[in-house]
Amino acid sequence: MAKKQFKSESKRLLDLMINSIYTHKEIFLRELISNASDATDKLYYLSLSDENIEFDREKFFIELIPNKDARTLTILDAGIGMTKEELEDNLGIIAKSGSFAFKSENEKAEDVDIIGQFGVGFYSAFMVAKKVTVVTRKFGTEEAYCWESEGADGYTIREDTKEAPGTTITLTLKDDTEDDRYSDFLEEYHIRELVKKYSDYIKYPIRMMVEKTRQVGEGDDKKTETYKEQETLNSMVPLWRKNKSEITEEEYNDFYLSKFYDYEKPARTVHTKADGLVSYTALLYFPQKPPYDFYTKDFKRGLQLYSNGVLIMDKCEDLLPDYFAFVRGLVDSADLSLNISREMLQHDRQLKTIANNLKKKIKSELLAFLRDDREAFCKFYEYFGRPIKFGIYDSFGQEKEFLQDLLLFYSAKEKKLITLEEYVAAMPEGQDAIYYACGETVEKIDQLPQKEMIIDKGYDILYFTEGVDEFNTKIMVNYKEKPFKSISDSDVGEDKEAEEKDKEIFDFLTESMKDRLQAVKASTRLKSHPVCISSSGPVSLEMEKVLSNSPGENQFKAQRVLEINVNHKIFETMKALYASDKEKLK
Ligand code: ADP
Ligand code: MG
Repeated sequence: MAKKQFKSESKRLLDLMINSIYTHKEIFLRELISNASDATDKLYYLSLSDENIEFDREKFFIELIPNKDARTLTILDAGIGMTKEELEDNLGIIAKSGSFAFKSENEKAEDVDIIGQFGVGFYSAFMVAKKVTVVTRKFGTEEAYCWESEGADGYTIREDTKEAPGTTITLTLKDDTEDDRYSDFLEEYHIRELVKKYSDYIKYPIRMMVEKTRQVGEGDDKKTETYKEQETLNSMVPLWRKNKSEITEEEYNDFYLSKFYDYEKPARTVHTKADGLVSYTALLYFPQKPPYDFYTKDFKRGLQLYSNGVLIMDKCEDLLPDYFAFVRGLVDSADLSLNISREMLQHDRQLKTIANNLKKKIKSELLAFLRDDREAFCKFYEYFGRPIKFGIYDSFGQEKEFLQDLLLFYSAKEKKLITLEEYVAAMPEGQDAIYYACGETVEKIDQLPQKEMIIDKGYDILYFTEGVDEFNTKIMVNYKEKPFKSISDSDVGEDKEAEEKDKEIFDFLTESMKDRLQAVKASTRLKSHPVCISSSGPVSLEMEKVLSNSPGENQFKAQRVLEINVNHKIFETMKALYASDKEKLK
């Protein structure tokens, strides 16, 4: 029989396909199962409009038959099948999708969730098979045909016989090489794994004969025997496709624990659906604690991406900004194509729209979390506040507007974490800046002498315990038009009047300390404490500390100011010494 050539552009495409579209060879199984599911769906769709066609869900399943002796893997369905012409069209022309045509011809078929639309998935079989044999019989006809191909050099079609409508695809696997063990695709455990991973939510049962053991006999005759039994490998109904009202909290939590390998139930669950420019369902979880590798460079953020219940990608980075890297979960969208590479996805418009919507959704859920259960949120924030802060810093302020309401800091007055909004709302009249104090811990900041006067004025102080905090104020500049002001900034405490009065002595002190300090000044902010160190200029003492801890040469130094409490008796002593013994005062 003469071999037919694939249409010429198809030949090149086939090579391209096999070698570049897919990163993992194993996805061929996902593609063939998806096609089988589509074929079954099409029959189901016909039954909706033709009462002569009986569609009994129970009778429709997909079967996988590995045969180690023959080195073949067969995928069998009882779906709609193909005529000879359809075989030519659908399998003879690469990038031609019968499923896409079916959807366009049957407007209402939108509801049947057919997966295929690009017409390349089938050829992924050639990544693992040296020969692909398709025997098919179209529903409602008697004739069957066999399509066979060994790859890019063409295919043959001949008449065949088949008892029932549907399609049987048999792959003769390539020989094993050092790098690729194709025979693994005949192993029960591996097939099981692949079905679970990619095709768990195909809505028809995917069955396979599996080996099992059982105990037989009594007493001394007791022995184990192995036997074969057909088993359904997939769980079929994806939790996220159910209605929210039908899902219990426990189901949500169990799903999270088993799917995302956490030990603790999630802090919050978000199940959301969108129908608009793009439609999708997302099931997102905020964990209670970060995974062990969260703060390492090995950590990979991302959501699982599904197209109609079929997994496209396990960790789709583009769906989450770095500052929300803690979110776990998945997105399912019928608008995305299965046959799409990572590179192509990055530029996908629809994906960008989804990512953008999710970002907003996550933010509003975080704010709702804070409102609903402040205590739990604050615990959560201890772990995950940092990436959010870095979101502002790393974007050079571009994300300020979006993220600023998610910033929380410990408040001197409230003795708990508060938002900037809460801080500003509680500002007494006359206060025109947001005061903050830096230090390693809340306890250390509590002891800062600079605090006293500010607190006395009735102002609150935010505690910045992370290096990034103060840097962020430089980037944000202000919040709701209120500038950020460090309580250690020298101009906060300056007492010009007192300084003028004792100008001579302050000049003397400044002069004698000039190697180590920028100035010695009179201070208004000290009450019980005799002195404090503050800084003037753009680099604060805390920033200097952070900068000196980072690698590389560092020329950023804080300009130190020594502030003296002129009402403290230390100043009396200094004044006396200034008059009697300047050397000693030095
Ligand atoms: P897609 O699924 O994106 O349409 P494929 O390359 O996977 O592209 O398949 C091409 C076409 O071949 C399908 O659209 C469908 O018309 C046909 N086809 C593939 N597998 C089957 C099958 N098991 N039963 C019936 N038709 C099939
Ligand atoms: Mg397909």
